[in-house]
Amino acid sequence: MRKIAGSTYVIETGITVPVYFLNDKEVVLLDSSHIKYHEQILQEIEGAGLTVRAIINSHVHYDHVGNNDYFRENHGTMVITGQLEATIARSIPLVKTYYWTGTVNQIAENYKVYPMTIDATFAEEESVVEVCGAEFKIIPLPGHTPGQCGIVTPDDVFYVADSLMDEDMMMKSKLPTTMDWEVDFRTKEKIRNSKHAAYVLAHSGVFETIEEIVDKNVADRMKRLARLKELLAAKDCWTREELTQVLWDRLGLRTDRQVSQVIFTRNIECIMTYLVNTGELTEGYEKGIFKYRR
Ligand SMILES: [Zn+2]
Repeated sequence: MRKIAGSTYVIETGITVPVYFLNDKEVVLLDSSHIKYHEQILQEIEGAGLTVRAIINSHVHYDHVGNNDYFRENHGTMVITGQLEATIARSIPLVKTYYWTGTVNQIAENYKVYPMTIDATFAEEESVVEVCGAEFKIIPLPGHTPGQCGIVTPDDVFYVADSLMDEDMMMKSKLPTTMDWEVDFRTKEKIRNSKHAAYVLAHSGVFETIEEIVDKNVADRMKRLARLKELLAAKDCWTREELTQVLWDRLGLRTDRQVSQVIFTRNIECIMTYLVNTGELTEGYEKGIFKYRR
């Protein structure tokens, strides 16, 4: 565990998890990481004799809530999530609608964290969540998901969750998961204009100032959009399947996992919706086949 400011620390697994010390023995986690980091998280928490009093979730993607249930069951931890995200995560049919189209059975099998058990919710607006007298500011950061929120610890450390990626993640990411690109650009701008003691990115790391990494994230998005537009220019009309196939080859995807392919096609839909909303393309059905037109 590494100290950032005052009582705010981070656990650095493949995902960075902020930890706030309420006192010597009790902490609050901001997200609980992916289940694959379970042992490492436990080592840091239980190995140090700590109890998790609460987990405040930024959003309910499986890699942010993977250890919620363990702490709820073994530490009596209170799981606190935004209202909209909670509504989605409590229902597999809603997870299917919002996040990963696929069958209900596929979701239940691949994402054991759903349906999620959540003890308390907060409105996804500027507000405060109090845990044992410590106040955590909630800052709405929609775009990556509809209800994602950032959380500011009492030491003024701003956890921006999945609104930004570090350079390594930008390089590795074939196509980022962003439900609404337009809203996400506004969220990135909002973070750029904020002033806090430090910033934590889930994927990953701690930053003292944020302007440079925001600029890099925006530039990365613009580059992806430019490349996509260049590719689309080859034809006037694309079916979803044609586009998916071409992007699959271009981006060098290799996975055999159906859920990964579902995420990929969903991410294509989201970026294409952005181009439709900004007037670059139109979309619609023609004799039962969904097409994008320039
Ligand atoms: Zn996420």
